[in-house]
Amino acid sequence: MTAVAIRGRRVVVPGSVIEDGAVVIEGERIVATGRADELVVASDVAFQCDVVMPGFIDMHTHGAGGRSFGERASAAREIARGMAQNGVTTVYAGLGHGATLEAVSASVAAAAAAVGETGGARLGGIFLEGPYISPERKGAWTAAHLRAPAIPELEQLVEAAGGHLRRINVAPELAGATEFIRHARERGIVVSIGHSNATYSDAVAAIEAGATIANHTYNAMSPLAHRAPGLVGAVLARDELLAELIFDGVHVHPAAAKALYRARGAGGVALITDSVLVAGQPDGVYETGSRTLTVRDGSCCLPDGTLAGSVATFDQCVRNAARHFECGLGELALISATNAAGAIGIGHETGSITPGRFADLVLLNDRLQPQATMVRGSVVFESQASEGQPS
Ligand SMILES: [Zn+2]
Repeated sequence: MTAVAIRGRRVVVPGSVIEDGAVVIEGERIVATGRADELVVASDVAFQCDVVMPGFIDMHTHGAGGRSFGERASAAREIARGMAQNGVTTVYAGLGHGATLEAVSASVAAAAAAVGETGGARLGGIFLEGPYISPERKGAWTAAHLRAPAIPELEQLVEAAGGHLRRINVAPELAGATEFIRHARERGIVVSIGHSNATYSDAVAAIEAGATIANHTYNAMSPLAHRAPGLVGAVLARDELLAELIFDGVHVHPAAAKALYRARGAGGVALITDSVLVAGQPDGVYETGSRTLTVRDGSCCLPDGTLAGSVATFDQCVRNAARHFECGLGELALISATNAAGAIGIGHETGSITPGRFADLVLLNDRLQPQATMVRGSVVFESQASEGQPS
């Protein structure tokens, strides 16, 4: 098999940043990393760029470009394909809306049919954000569609997903939530907690039952008060939860984002977009079946002003983090790829530039704008302005 090399002024590997580095790929996998002058000769180099990072992993998004993940398998593929231009190499289909469990199951089955290669970002599986969430912290979800956690229903959803249900979100204070979380963990499903009015002790009970991710930290969750630490208090105080953060400049104040980052460190935070179908569309009012969404100045709202997901792209969130956290490339790789890969159970395959892992990479310029994206060794996006010309 022929080896291909990517050369970067900075190559981000676990624990360090290699100056004038290279990543050598054979087929789908990374086979070596190191200094370019020790590793490759110029004729092997297929691409060069400023920064090589692990491809971004968006484990919480509902759609983009006019499409939602639950519509049809072709829509799910189209969304995932488009996200490659934002540097995303693995994405999970965020679902759970639906008037009935049958409607939710149908959207799960539609997206499950698209899991795998898409010609862009790989569709890693299904994420059910609802319907087992609290009406008191429903955000843009429809109250009438929310349900109490029920194990037989989970089994029905697992079946609809055909083995691709990777994660489910639950509000820990709902009746039966602890048993539900334990059961989901036994079925190999990752559990997040959020859209919740949980007390701190409700949150601890969920952690002890096996919850490992905090669903969009701060948004739609019981806030921190000094005698009632709530779910936000649990996210800040406990290491067990990987803290999702929508860093679009709208959902969370940069100071609150930085407080989270300082409390948990780069190992405890994961960037997400929480993008919805109107992401990537111009400002305006959109009728989307059951809902009216207004996109203006980087936000997406229901008519009453409630935020209804983001219109952000993943690379924008990464640049926001770089600016407000004042962190290095190594920390950015953790919060944009490595942590999510570990939490969702694919850290042995992807999420870091390590020999043996799949060659899922994003090549960026020095302003952290994606120039090219590679999924399992294949180039799935290349910017017109790319410096990454074959040499
Ligand atoms: Zn949400």
